[in-house]
Amino acid sequence: MMTRSREVQLQRRPVGLPTTDDFAIVEVDVAAPRDGEVMVRNVCMSVDPYMRGRMVDRKSYAPPFQLGATMNGGAIGRVVESRHPQFRAGDYVESNFAWREAFCAKGDVLAPLGKLVAPPSAYLGVLGMPGMTAYVGLLEVGAVKDGETVFVSGAAGAVGSIVGQIAKIKGCATIGSAGSADKVRVVKSEFGFDHAFDYHGADLLAELRRAAPNGLDVYFDNVGGDHLQAALSHMRPFGRVALCGAIAQYNDTTPPPGPNNLTLAIGLGLTLRGFIVSHFNHLRAQFRSQMEDWVTSGRVKYRETVMHGIERAPAAFIGLFTGENTGKMIVQLENRA
Ligand code: NDP
Repeated sequence: MMTRSREVQLQRRPVGLPTTDDFAIVEVDVAAPRDGEVMVRNVCMSVDPYMRGRMVDRKSYAPPFQLGATMNGGAIGRVVESRHPQFRAGDYVESNFAWREAFCAKGDVLAPLGKLVAPPSAYLGVLGMPGMTAYVGLLEVGAVKDGETVFVSGAAGAVGSIVGQIAKIKGCATIGSAGSADKVRVVKSEFGFDHAFDYHGADLLAELRRAAPNGLDVYFDNVGGDHLQAALSHMRPFGRVALCGAIAQYNDTTPPPGPNNLTLAIGLGLTLRGFIVSHFNHLRAQFRSQMEDWVTSGRVKYRETVMHGIERAPAAFIGLFTGENTGKMIVQLENRA
């Protein structure tokens, strides 16, 4: 049977901060599955900062979105009809077919989620890609050790909120920066950071000196720009900087100035290491089992900001750059999950 699906297409390449006019909502027919295929109705989808890079026509680790074509990204859906032996109607699956309500795909490009210990949307956040980014970025890239001092920018967001909590579990002192007084409160009271500050109008280096008089062992960088520069100026010898993201720069129309204090890394023996979460795919099973334990035992808490309906997906995405979200930004597509 044919199914109708609304989908979001990129209709022009954004310049600076994207606007909703850069996107178009179209309605398409999805044909019934053939042998080896599965029909899925999405329950929720993710909008992520990295998608901004895919809206620019340049080569990167993820290919650019094409104009006039439906975009993609992480989604959790439920199987409606299966002609693949591994899937049955009602199963939850993770896919890369976001930005649409329903789709039909070969079963071998879908990941069965198995038994869920939390609502499906959690598998796009704390138990999904952002949670895994926090986990590998702090433990593998940041190589954090008991008793160290960790600074996390974007601390109220999907990745940052989890980084701070893992650091606490590992016995570290934690400092976070976020974009409003409300977020600072949540970062401290819900996510358990020892110190947090609102970066707007702040003297970042003075804030770091106040919160960590002896310096930083690890800086988990979600923001880039002035945050990176301030953190570099306050690192302890042999400190590590996990370069996860640089959201302050994603909408720039000219190349941003680099940090002017990189030479500090020489004398201090700092390690600055960039990473993409997929570099650590071999740790996925370990991550899921550990994080499910932490979440179900209440040791790791998570928040979501939820927008409803596919037509709200562009606004949800844009909201990442204007700080609309606390925790993971989710677009809920179906309430019957
Ligand atoms: P978030 O949930 O943190 O959402 C984005 C947040 O960024 C906003 O809520 C806003 O919070 C903050 N922000 C937006 N613009 C600025 C700015 N100019 N300066 C400072 N903060 C800003 O997103 P994620 O947790 O999904 O992603 C966080 C970072 O991690 C991003 O840089 C992303 O690209 C990166 N990332 C990297 C991955 C990897 O594999 N390397 C994988 C996943 C994410 P506020 O109100 O506090 O400003």
